[in-house]
Amino acid sequence: MKPFPHFRERLIALFFPPRCVGCARAGFAFCPHCAQAVSPIVGPLCAHCGRPQPQPVDFCSGCRSGGRDVFALVRVAALYSDPLRGAIHALKYEGQPELAPLLARYLIAVAQQPPWLEILPTIDGVIPVPLHAQRLAERGYNQSALLAEALAEGMGLKLVESWLRRERQTRSQVGLNGAERRQNVAGAFRADPVVAGKRLLVVDDVFTTGTTLTECAQSLRQAGAAAVYGLTLATPVPTTIPTSGDPAGSEFGDA
Ligand SMILES: [Zn+2]
Ligand SMILES: [Zn+2]
Repeated sequence: MKPFPHFRERLIALFFPPRCVGCARAGFAFCPHCAQAVSPIVGPLCAHCGRPQPQPVDFCSGCRSGGRDVFALVRVAALYSDPLRGAIHALKYEGQPELAPLLARYLIAVAQQPPWLEILPTIDGVIPVPLHAQRLAERGYNQSALLAEALAEGMGLKLVESWLRRERQTRSQVGLNGAERRQNVAGAFRADPVVAGKRLLVVDDVFTTGTTLTECAQSLRQAGAAAVYGLTLATPVPTTIPTSGDPAGSEFGDA
């Protein structure tokens, strides 16, 4: 038994205070100034997937090319631009899981607005996009699971991580086009039969083409889930208006 729980951690924090991932200010993992600088998604969006659009649409080109019938609704909290972009990168690739509850605040902010106020009371479980066991062992944690956990706790929902597993290790989605991305993750997930009849909310960090999220929802629906919703932290800043196929965004690893 340790006589002083967390004593070592406190000592480390005293000599090596955290530095903000956005501006390097000491004393914060993600300082209030940078937290304020995150760009929420406002303005016209796709009513189905929540991605920004030049004008409001029922289904954007991305939705029309897949996922339209799989998801009930998806929403994204913010634009994938700095400082959020740097914070997500640090959470995902630089071993800073302590950022998850700070970034989950943006998910909670969205979840406290319509249409979620009516949807969330009907949700049976919150499911993070799973990592393959091997990648989980390498990273030490699933960043989407940490986000989902904080969201579930904040909204009084049940986290049900075990209801969806990634059975096949997929290569990074970086540099793949839409068709290649779909092929890459096809059949990678397996839903627990317990999801039959359930209404579920899938959580992920970055929403690019939506291929991964759609594949997750597909598995859950095939296992009998009554409805699948999606809530994600960030989506790329639209630079061009997608006219067909998937919107651009090849720099993202798992989306
Ligand atoms: Zn900062
Ligand atoms: Zn859409």
